[in-house]
Amino acid sequence: MAKRDYYEVLEVSKNASKEEIKKAYRKQALKYHPDKNPGDARAEEKFKEAAEAYEVLSNDEKRARYDRYGHSGIGGAAGGGFGSGGMTIDDIFEHFGDIFGTGFGGFGGFGSRRRSSRVNKGSNLRVKVKLTMQEIATGVEKKLKLNKYVACDACDGSGAQGSSYATCPTCHGTGQVTRITNTFLGQMQTTTTCPNCGGEGKTISKKCPKCAGEGIIKGEEVVRITIPAGVGEGMQLNVSGKGNAARRGGMNGDLLVVIEEEKHPELIRDGNDLIFNLYLSVPQAILGTQAEIPTVDGKVKIKIEAGTQPGKILRIRGKGLPDVNGYRKGDLLVHINVYIPREVTREEARIIEKWKQSDSFTPRPNREDRSFFDRMRGYFE
Ligand SMILES: [Zn+2]
Ligand SMILES: [Zn+2]
Repeated sequence: MAKRDYYEVLEVSKNASKEEIKKAYRKQALKYHPDKNPGDARAEEKFKEAAEAYEVLSNDEKRARYDRYGHSGIGGAAGGGFGSGGMTIDDIFEHFGDIFGTGFGGFGGFGSRRRSSRVNKGSNLRVKVKLTMQEIATGVEKKLKLNKYVACDACDGSGAQGSSYATCPTCHGTGQVTRITNTFLGQMQTTTTCPNCGGEGKTISKKCPKCAGEGIIKGEEVVRITIPAGVGEGMQLNVSGKGNAARRGGMNGDLLVVIEEEKHPELIRDGNDLIFNLYLSVPQAILGTQAEIPTVDGKVKIKIEAGTQPGKILRIRGKGLPDVNGYRKGDLLVHINVYIPREVTREEARIIEKWKQSDSFTPRPNREDRSFFDRMRGYFE
């Protein structure tokens, strides 16, 4: 199932104000509140979905990134938040507890009670995605076929056959057990997660035969992810909730997409800049020429001035790669090299012999010609 649009989740328009978003979230959160829908895994998913949407849309920076890049813009290199860690019901109360605080009497006490209950979380799934320079330049949508744990379709992820749940006899549905121990200071009361049901408050009376009560099976899912422009080798995008499904209807793990960069046959990447080594023949460098330069989106023609020196760098502005954080686009740097033939024919040698005697070919480097070596000198001293 594809991730729903955050605006759609909260049922607000794309230009909703912060106050409207807060209101909308409050409405959804109340509707799907776990205390109002006990044992309803679907309501719990909805509750989490709304919290995730609110977490992003209530934050100006995250909202801007989401508007620009969609879900993959959240929780990437500079993301953090739920995207990187996954979100449990406890997290939601921890983060947004205040939103239920005033004017929501009747839900007052749930925070502390809920916090101690355990929510299963699926493991994260890591995949590598190889991108061409072209794809990096524009950003790209990729369809990934994932082999992963998915919710068992026979029991809808619950692990129970039919609706064969029973309230846990050990904790009577609270998910916790209280133990009283005698110490020399007197009686001490400790509360721990119920060992019988693992904090779920319920037990399965008849296990689903397909998944043996686990609620998950090995399966396949096709996930569409949007990779923003400007990503680089080794960067990791976190797609929250697209990892392995959790046992018995918990929260999915995250999908971690690691970027691999395919080498471009002609262009070398240097941060957001691209470098192209242009080789001119000796006559071209002397007389000037037009040169075709490859870029990520086709070739461009540039003029090479007569008398262009080897070592010179021509900068084509804005023909590099976009910045993943939306800063200035990089440039394409054309490094000028002059090709000196290793061998010439006898005829050619005769012509060049004539050049040698010609006045113009006597080396007389001026300031500009030396600038490259001046720059290089720093490296050798
Ligand atoms: Zn099952
Ligand atoms: Zn129990």
